[in-house]
Amino acid sequence: MPETQMTIPKDILELLIGRCMTDRSEYDGLAELCAKAGGRLAGTKAHTDAEKWTRGRMKSIGLSPVRLQSFETPTWERGSCKVTIVRPDLGEIPAEAHGFAPSGARVEAPLVDLGPGLRDDFDARRKALKGKLAFIGEKPPAGTKAPHRSEQFQWAVEAGAAGMMLASKVPGLLPQTGMCAQEEASIPSVGLSLEDGAKLKRLIDSGKRITARISLKNDVGASKVANVLGDLRGREKPEEIVVIGGHLDAWDLADGAVDNGTGCAVVLGVARALAGLPQPPRRTVRFALWAAEEIGIVGSRKYVEKSWRKMDAHVAYLNFDMPGDPDRLLLCGRQAEVSALGEMRRGLEALGVTQPVSTGICLATDLKPFVFAGIPVLSVLGSLVGGAGSCYHTAADTFDKVHLPSLLRTTACAAALTYALAECEDLPFERHSGDQVRRAFEEEGVADAIEGADCRMVE
Ligand SMILES: [Zn+2]
Repeated sequence: MPETQMTIPKDILELLIGRCMTDRSEYDGLAELCAKAGGRLAGTKAHTDAEKWTRGRMKSIGLSPVRLQSFETPTWERGSCKVTIVRPDLGEIPAEAHGFAPSGARVEAPLVDLGPGLRDDFDARRKALKGKLAFIGEKPPAGTKAPHRSEQFQWAVEAGAAGMMLASKVPGLLPQTGMCAQEEASIPSVGLSLEDGAKLKRLIDSGKRITARISLKNDVGASKVANVLGDLRGREKPEEIVVIGGHLDAWDLADGAVDNGTGCAVVLGVARALAGLPQPPRRTVRFALWAAEEIGIVGSRKYVEKSWRKMDAHVAYLNFDMPGDPDRLLLCGRQAEVSALGEMRRGLEALGVTQPVSTGICLATDLKPFVFAGIPVLSVLGSLVGGAGSCYHTAADTFDKVHLPSLLRTTACAAALTYALAECEDLPFERHSGDQVRRAFEEEGVADAIEGADCRMVE
């Protein structure tokens, strides 16, 4: 790979950063979205309202064309969920069903303690789990990555468990939701609060046998939903496209302000900043708010599938999903190419981007189909501040957790990065081949994700 540096003219960098750091339109817009269409799970009226709101917003920013890309997908709507500890008689404890939990279920069974719920824990208790409730109430040991809830759920199903109870890893008496399966699950799966999980764990450790009852009802079906796409046409190479996106849908328990209202606000904020420049960048920038990420990363995957023949024209994808207080750039799985971001990083240092470029591949978000397609994937990452970390997938994901300075700083960094990708004469990143993608997955320790993946791999 040639040593091409991504740069941005100083006057444009100043203009973009100045605008992004002083314009709070998309922060205010996010408050509006949360009020109008909070808890916008794909397939609900709130999601349709959010699609309409986004289309209007993109048009008012000046993007053109703005279109809804619709598709049909399995959807899930929460009904009732009751978890009762029947032995010892502790009564009902707060719980939330995981996405795609059955339309109806009532089970009563003893708990089997799976510690932090790693693969080894499931293997060791496989026999004991049959007909029982898999209980995960511990954090994984330091340095060990927790498996995704849907993996743990799959292991529980394989062992013949009657259900799964998963405690949150953050305090606040807040059960977490999230997907457990891609279609109606065969057994119930629920989130408990960290505190209730810890209480049950203490009882188990003191030698008590615990029996719980889970009763739940949900609506499982299929619906039409839509990605919202808006273009800023390139002035010289309009056929080449930089896509910047984040998911519009959000869990129903709250307003989806942080996950992923903040990502939406960044994408729209970048649109506003770039559309306000004296002239657009050389390449087309496509702003995308994806549908149905929370229920299986569906919208971005559909986009990549539908655009497959035009994927070569997609020169980069930038993803924003709960962006946080920016401290580093992300260049997924491209360790050999991080030096190309050196100048860019220096330019953004004053905004907090002081850490080395990360090359990790987190596949639990919309960048997944793009990485499989070999497209260069970038982002701006940071830690969550202002209580945003503990509200993930809970009833506390409300607008008060949105931290204005972080949001504006991320928007400024994202605008600079997007502009540089859309403007630079020679792109420092090329589309990867299937072999290169596989090697990157190995280098980043996520090779397991390749087999059986629902995303198409580049040849
Ligand atoms: Zn998210």
